[in-house]
Amino acid sequence: TLYQRSMAIIRLREPVATQHSFRDGRTIEVVYRPMADGGWVATYEDISERSRAARRLKAQSDLFEAALANMSHGLLMLDGDLRITAVNGRFLAMYGLSPERVHVGASARALVAHSVEVGNYHGHAAEDVWPEVQARLSLAEPFQREDMLADGRAIAISYTPLPGGGWVTIHEDVTERRRARDEIERQNLRFTVAMANMVQGLCVFDGDMRLVVCNRRYADMFGLPPALIRPGTALLDILAHRVAHDHYSGDPEAYIDERLAVARGGKPMNVDLDLRDGRALAMSHRPLPDGGWVSTFEDITERKRFELALAEQNRRFDAALSNMSQGLCMLDADLCLTVCNARYVEMLALSPDLARPGTPLRAIVAHGVANGRHGGLTVDEVMAPRLDLFGRGDPAVLETAFADGRIIETAYRPMPGGGWVATYEDVTERRKAEARIAHMARHDALTELPNRLLLRERMEEALRIQAREGQAFAVLCLDLDQFKAVNDTLGHPVGDALLRQVADRLRAITRAGDTIARLGGDEFAIIQPVAHPHEAEALARRIVEAVGLPYAVEGNHVVVGTSIGIALAPGDGADPDTLFKNADLALYRAKPEGRGVARFFEPEMDAQIKRRRRLELDLRAAHDGQQFELWYQPQVDAATGVVGGFEALLRWRHGERGLVSPADFIPLAEEIGLIVPLGEWVIRRACADAALWPVDVRVAVNVSAAQFGSRSIEKVVLTALAATGLDPRRLELEITESVLLTDTEATLATLHRLRGIGVRISLDDFGTGYSSLSYLRRFPFDKIKIDRSFVRELERADSAAIVEAVVDLAAKLGMATTAEGVETAEQLALVRAKGCTEVQGYLFSPPRPGCEVPAILRALSAPMPAVA
Ligand code: C2E
Ligand code: CA
Ligand code: CA
Repeated sequence: TLYQRSMAIIRLREPVATQHSFRDGRTIEVVYRPMADGGWVATYEDISERSRAARRLKAQSDLFEAALANMSHGLLMLDGDLRITAVNGRFLAMYGLSPERVHVGASARALVAHSVEVGNYHGHAAEDVWPEVQARLSLAEPFQREDMLADGRAIAISYTPLPGGGWVTIHEDVTERRRARDEIERQNLRFTVAMANMVQGLCVFDGDMRLVVCNRRYADMFGLPPALIRPGTALLDILAHRVAHDHYSGDPEAYIDERLAVARGGKPMNVDLDLRDGRALAMSHRPLPDGGWVSTFEDITERKRFELALAEQNRRFDAALSNMSQGLCMLDADLCLTVCNARYVEMLALSPDLARPGTPLRAIVAHGVANGRHGGLTVDEVMAPRLDLFGRGDPAVLETAFADGRIIETAYRPMPGGGWVATYEDVTERRKAEARIAHMARHDALTELPNRLLLRERMEEALRIQAREGQAFAVLCLDLDQFKAVNDTLGHPVGDALLRQVADRLRAITRAGDTIARLGGDEFAIIQPVAHPHEAEALARRIVEAVGLPYAVEGNHVVVGTSIGIALAPGDGADPDTLFKNADLALYRAKPEGRGVARFFEPEMDAQIKRRRRLELDLRAAHDGQQFELWYQPQVDAATGVVGGFEALLRWRHGERGLVSPADFIPLAEEIGLIVPLGEWVIRRACADAALWPVDVRVAVNVSAAQFGSRSIEKVVLTALAATGLDPRRLELEITESVLLTDTEATLATLHRLRGIGVRISLDDFGTGYSSLSYLRRFPFDKIKIDRSFVRELERADSAAIVEAVVDLAAKLGMATTAEGVETAEQLALVRAKGCTEVQGYLFSPPRPGCEVPAILRALSAPMPAVA
C-alpha cells in the first residue's frame, strides 16, 4: 500500500507532503519534491511529537469553539488593537449581526458600524456611537453595564480587560429577568401602599411566630411601640405588651396555641374579640404556606354599637307595630308587601303565606275579592282607586266598605325611597257614631222627629222649590194646652211619654211630603206643601181632633188640647225666620181664644206684637218713673160684715192711657221678669200702708209664681215686715196654683217657713185653670178664694155643687173660704148659704186708693145690706 501510494505521488510530478503512521505509533512525514531531472527528493521527518501537540491543540480549539458556540451568553474578545479575536454565535444572534461582517480579525469599529446598521442603537449614527465605545474600552478596569436595545431588550454586559491588552466581554439578555424584577418592585410598592392605607390592622407571622410584617394600623390598634413592630419580633413579646396595656384579656399562651392551630390546621379562623377598654375587634387569621399566618384586625366597635342600636330600634319598631290598634303594611315600589303587623293580618283575615314579605298587593286584594269582602267588585275594580292614588304619589285616604259591614279607612303615605306605607283603621264605630251625632244634631231625641235645625233646612229647601216650581206651602206651629200641668203633676216621664204619643199621632195624620218637627217643650211645627190654604186648615182640624183624643199614659188618663198658628209661603214670608215668626204669632193669638183653635197669620198680628213691645218699654219706664199705685179692696166676714182686711191691687197710672188694669200688664211684667222688683215694691208698700191701719185689719198681697222662682220672696217679706213693724199675722199672701207648679219642694218649704212666722197663705182664683182638690192636701192654706167665675154662675147647679164641695172640704181642713166678685145681694146670699166664710166684691167696694181705706172702714162698719 505504501509503495503504491508513493508511486501515485511520483506520477503527479508535484511536491507532495504525506504522513505515515507506523505501527509503533510514530508518525513520519514524507515530503516529495520533484527534481528537474525527473527524479524525486523525499525527505523523512519523524513528526510524532509535533502531530500529537497539534492534535491536542486542535482538540482544545475544537472544545473552545464548541464551548463558544454553546454558551448561553454572547462572547466577544478583542485584542489590544481592538480587533476581534473571538466571537460566538450567541453574540451574533443577540445583536442580529451577520458572520460575514463580524468575524475573527474584523475590527471593533466595523462591528459597531454593522450593529448601528441593523438598528440596535435607536437610529444613532455610527460616528456618534463609536467614540463612546472607544472611550469605554480605553479604561483598563473591569466593569458592568446594561444596554437597552432599540427593540426593548436589556443586555447586561461585563467587560474584563485581558493582561496583554484587549477585552473579554460577556453579553447576557436580561430582558425577562429585568421585567420580573420590575414587576416585583411594582408589586412591593403596591403592597406597601395598600398596607399603609388599610383600615384593618394587618400582621404576618412566620412559622416561628415572629413578625414578618405589619402595618401602621396594627401598631396603632394595640399601641405597639416601634421596637415591637420590627420584623422578627416574637409574637409572645407583642402579646405581653398587649396584656400589659390592657388590650388583651386572655392567656397569651392560649392565644398562641390558638394561632398555631390555625397555622397547622390550614383553615382560616374568624373571631370577634372584645377588648377590655370597650373596643370590639373582628379578627381573621389565615394560614400561610410557610407555616405562618396572616391576621387582620378590624375595629368593629362602631359597627357593633350601630348594630345594637339598630337591633334595639328594630325591637321597638316591632313592639310598636304589634301593639298598634291600626293595621299597618308597607309596600315596596313594585307594590309588594315588605312589612305588615298582626292587626293588618287580622283585619284582612290573611293566611300566613299571604302575610309574607313579597306578596303583591294585588294578591291580597284578590284574596279579599275571593272571600266576598268587596261585594260584587272585581280585583281590577278594587285596585283601580289604589293604583290611581299611587300614580298621583301624594298622601291619600281611602275608605272601603266591606261586605261584612265594616268600614276601613286606609291612609296611604309615600315613602322616601319609593313604595308606600298604609295604615288601616276600622272606623265602623266612628262612622256610626258620626251618623248618630249627625242624626242627633238634626233630630229630637225624645220623639225622633226633626228638630228646629232640620226644620229650618227643610223650610229653606221648600222655599227654593217654591221659587223654582211655584209650590206653595204652609208652616203650622202648634203647642199643647195644659202640657205643663201634666208634666208637673204626673211627672216628666209621663210628660215625655205623652209627647211621644202626640208625635205618633202627628205622624199618622200627615202625608209623606210633610215635615213634622219638635221644637222643644210642647212645641211642634209642620211644613205642609199646599195648593190652597184650606188644605192647611183641614190639616189643622185633623191635628186638633187627633191630638185632643184622650191618652192612656202609664196608667194615667190624660187629655190635652192644641192650638195652632199657620203661616203660608210665599205670602206670609219669603224666608224661614219670617215664616216661622208669623206662624208663631198666629199661634200666640190662637192660644187665648181657648183650646183647639187654629189661626192663620194676619198682618194685623204683627201690629199687635208691636203694640206689646211698646207696652213693654212703657212698663219698664213706669217702674223707673214710679207710675204705680196700690189700691185696696175690702174683704168682709160673710156672717158679720166686719172688714177683716184689704186686698192690695196694683194700678198703673199711664201718662197717655190713664189707669191701666193689672190684667193687661201683670202677665207681661211676669214674662219680662219685671214682676220681681215690682212685686217687691208692692209688698213693701202694702206693709207700710197696713201698718197705719187698725191692728185688726189685715192686708192681702198678690204674689206671682215668678216671684217664687227668684227665691227672694222670703227675704223681701221679712225685710218689709221688719222695716214697717207690721205684725206678720196681719199679712196675707195670695198665691195661685201656678206657684205650686214651680219647683214644688223649694216653694213649699218657703211657704212653710213664711207660715211659720205667722204670715197667712191663701189660694187665689180657685176653680180656674187646672185646679184640683189635690192642691189642698199639699199645703195647709189658711184660705181658699173661690174664683169670680163660679160666683157669677152660682145659679148653675154644677157650679153650686163645686163651690159647696170646696167649702165643705176647706171647712174639714180648717181653711177659710172667700167668694170673689160678689156684686149682688143674691150672690152674697148664695155664697153665704154655701158656707163661705168671707166675701169680696163690688157689692161692698171696688178697689180704691189707699187713702180711702179709713173711709171704707167707716162705711162698712154699718150693718151689712143683705143682713139688713
Ligand atoms: P185677683 O187677685 O183675682 O183680684 C181680684 C180682681 O177682681 C181685681 O181686678 C178686682 O178689681 C176684681 N174685682 C173685685 N171685685 C169684683 C167684682 O165684684 N166684680 C168684678 N167683675 N171684678 C171684681 P184687678 O184689680 O183688675 O186685678 C186683676 C188681677 O191682677 C188680680 O186678680 C190679680 O191676679 C192681679 N193683680 C193685681 N194686683 C197685683 C199685684 O200687686 N201683684 C200681682 N202679682 N198680681 C196682681
Ligand atoms: Ca187676688
Ligand atoms: Ca182672685
